[in-house]
Amino acid sequence: MKLEILQKIISSLESGALVVTASHRQNRFVRNLWDQHQLSAESTQHREDKIVRSWSDCNSLSFDEWLNQLFEYSSLGGLFSQQKHVPEILDKQQQQWLFRKIIRDQQAEFSDWSKVQQETLLNNIQQAWIAYSEWLLDIQDKTTSSCFFDTEETRLFRNVIIAFEAACKKNNWISQANLLNYLTSKLPSLMPFIGNKISFYGFVEFTPQQQRFINKLELQYKKDPDSSIQIIEFTLQSFNSNSDKLKTSTPESKRVEEKIYPCASVETEWVAAAKWSRQLLEKNNNNSINIAIIIPDLTNKQQMVFRIFQREFQPETQLSALRHIPKGFNFSAGENFHDIPLIQIMKHWLGIFSSGNIEHWGAVLSDSFCVGYSNEKWARAQLKHLVLSQKNEYLSIEKFLELVLSCNIIPLNQWLEITHQLAKVARTKPKTLLPSKWANWFMDFLKSIPWPLEKTQDSITFQIFKQWQQLIRSLSKMDAICGNITLTSFSSLLDEQLSQQRFQPETPKSSVHVLGSLEAIGISFDFIRITGCQADSFPGVAKPNPFLPLTLQRKLDMPNATSQRELRFVKMLLNGYRNLCGSLTYSYAVADGETLLLPSPLLMQADTCSFVEDSLPEAWMEVQQQVASNLIQWQDDCGLPLKNQQVRSGISILKDQAACPFRAYVRHRLHVTSQDKEDIGVSSIQRGNWVHNSLEMVWRRLGNHKTLREKTTEQLIKLVQQCVDEIILNRSGKLHQQPSPIIQYEIIRTNWLVLSWLEIDKSRSEFIAVELEKETEAEIGGLTFKVRADRVDTLVDENKIIIDYKTGKCKPASWNDDRIDEPQLPLYALIEERISAIAFAQLNREACKLTGYGDEAITDKGIENLENWAEQLELWKKNLELLAMEFISGLASVTPKKGACDYCDLLHVCRFNARIEKERDDGSENTDENIIQIASDHTSCEGALR
Ligand code: SF4
Repeated sequence: MKLEILQKIISSLESGALVVTASHRQNRFVRNLWDQHQLSAESTQHREDKIVRSWSDCNSLSFDEWLNQLFEYSSLGGLFSQQKHVPEILDKQQQQWLFRKIIRDQQAEFSDWSKVQQETLLNNIQQAWIAYSEWLLDIQDKTTSSCFFDTEETRLFRNVIIAFEAACKKNNWISQANLLNYLTSKLPSLMPFIGNKISFYGFVEFTPQQQRFINKLELQYKKDPDSSIQIIEFTLQSFNSNSDKLKTSTPESKRVEEKIYPCASVETEWVAAAKWSRQLLEKNNNNSINIAIIIPDLTNKQQMVFRIFQREFQPETQLSALRHIPKGFNFSAGENFHDIPLIQIMKHWLGIFSSGNIEHWGAVLSDSFCVGYSNEKWARAQLKHLVLSQKNEYLSIEKFLELVLSCNIIPLNQWLEITHQLAKVARTKPKTLLPSKWANWFMDFLKSIPWPLEKTQDSITFQIFKQWQQLIRSLSKMDAICGNITLTSFSSLLDEQLSQQRFQPETPKSSVHVLGSLEAIGISFDFIRITGCQADSFPGVAKPNPFLPLTLQRKLDMPNATSQRELRFVKMLLNGYRNLCGSLTYSYAVADGETLLLPSPLLMQADTCSFVEDSLPEAWMEVQQQVASNLIQWQDDCGLPLKNQQVRSGISILKDQAACPFRAYVRHRLHVTSQDKEDIGVSSIQRGNWVHNSLEMVWRRLGNHKTLREKTTEQLIKLVQQCVDEIILNRSGKLHQQPSPIIQYEIIRTNWLVLSWLEIDKSRSEFIAVELEKETEAEIGGLTFKVRADRVDTLVDENKIIIDYKTGKCKPASWNDDRIDEPQLPLYALIEERISAIAFAQLNREACKLTGYGDEAITDKGIENLENWAEQLELWKKNLELLAMEFISGLASVTPKKGACDYCDLLHVCRFNARIEKERDDGSENTDENIIQIASDHTSCEGALR
């Protein structure tokens, strides 16, 4: 069957027919086939006749190319000479822009939708529009027009289409989806540009729109006995034609070798497919065979699948962070152009002018493409830190220039020049321009800084630039549609255009092709492997388009409308694959999480096999050798001992030392800091400070338990309100930047927390709040720290209780640990006299409560009475001294306590996760527990430290 089909294509081409294929990929396949045929024909003829002959051109086009060519020929041939204006075809971007504008105008309520929701709406409406055109629906048709009032979605679609068609009519535009309708109406005048023999190849089915065109073409051909139309395979439905010229062949599938592989999960299916294809290739001497791996919905799984194949075919790429052109396999789904780092950085440069968001400043300061980066990268990193620590959401270019001029960071000469250039361009920035003019303006700016002259352009970077420049040029097409726009609108327009493009680097010819479901149709392969053949997805469930009337979709048997249609479609695809390949392999995941899955019943005839990886890729061996020869393992858990016992940081040293010695060393000895993350709205630190400060103010006014109890509820509410307002509204320096509703909410929240806490204080035994936010010095194990107690209450018996306000989590149980998580209060208890309890005051949404430890005389609820308080103090002293001595000795082992890494910002420095993964790979059991055990073992090195 395979040879028969290929022979039909060759015969068509030899007879002078134009072969029209359903896709560009199929057209490439036909052209390759023709080249091979010419080569073999040439060599045969050369042997027999000793004559060298020239090759004839391959007369094949994809369907889209053919239509556009017909449109161009017709305009050259004077078809439009009678018309005032030549119609213009809207390309994809122009059509999208027009739809977006109409949807916005139509439905003001959609303006509140998130960007993702709006994009989904736009995509669905565009898909509905294509189906509407291809299935020849008509909202004006009396018999069907009422269906478009069925639901809110169909009504919206109707309104959008009316506006879209009106705009097209007014401006003499033709959308790509309507081009075929237009050409059908002009077919008689087009006949001089259409040859008399046409073969269609690779169509799974003809849409009614295509069918109508071909029917009309056939009527024209009737006038010429030498003309013919041939359909080569793959038609799902027959024509409604009586002509014997239109013979469709819906071939029965042939029997090929079929196997099915169960895999543990979807991801292991892809891994197995990559390994299977690599092994197959090696067994067949690499390039002599053609393999297709079919992955349904490949576009959405692109990144993960690409990584898996690259790991298998190019293991050497795992050792470098650079982008690599795929080698050994060909990947049909490109990545989203918008997400490519180089494109992202250009967007950030534009963002400085259009919004000045702090995020853009941070990104351009880290731009390694920018001139002078290699010399100034550390200085720019410091400047970035400074910019982000301003805590402003936006920064104008003038303010930024002031900041650069006032900071003492050196060297920043080239960056200073860039900033001056930015300011100059910003001063002369026009208010509005046509999109193409904005594009030129922006490119001129990039050249002026200059950017990116420092970087060597490898092949991938070169291709990215090429595509970017094409996109910039194509923006001129938007001029007529958008008119003059602001830079902010231009930035959004560019964003939209970028998100529509995919980047597919040119790759060397390869034998393994990773494709989506439809892309393999009509192309001959030696082996095809179809993944995702679970019963619930092969065939898939029906997904009718919500913007088209369901009754119409079912009646017309439109794509995705019914499960019966999906079944027929998948069967047809399978037949297509069987007819053009030597061996067909399927795989399916046996489970998705906890759900068990079954293979598709369509594949009962396939033999079930299990995949065995019989060899590692040769390239892997080389990589392993390279890694082994480059890496020297060095276990070094100790830094330099501390010379003088002076430390800059406070009690956080002991806290970090307890959590992870490496963290303490890096933060407090090497003074490595991370950049603050910009919180949207009010940060959690700010919230905590407001609660602390409000409570301090309230207690300065109340003074003692007795006064608190004497206040009426109204008086207390008033007092708290005054204090909270004073703290949040008058003392915060940057409130004007916060939207008022957020602040109002924070005021309510703080009021509630403080009042709730005062209720707890009321219920306690009598006390005087003697010390509020008092800072004092504490010495332990040879280190001196500053410690601060939020509140110290003196009780009736003159003993004291120390209270620490906590708006987050608080776990007094951690004070029982050898490595104390929160050493502040135990340390304070050691230096102050007559401390009989330490406690956290928990103030958060979950609960407001007192929780801690004390001696047996304490009666406050929430304080656990310890039998031997003096012994407990001794134990804390010993444990804290040990931590201090560890720090002094320079101990810096990467031995975190359980949970210490959860919010630690040093993970990229210690690479602890890589160690865990390696130990897991090496087969260590309970890796986490082992590490934690090591951490607790430090306490047993007490003797050695002493
Ligand atoms: S991430 Fe974990 S191991 Fe690494 S420094 Fe932080 S706490 Fe220590």
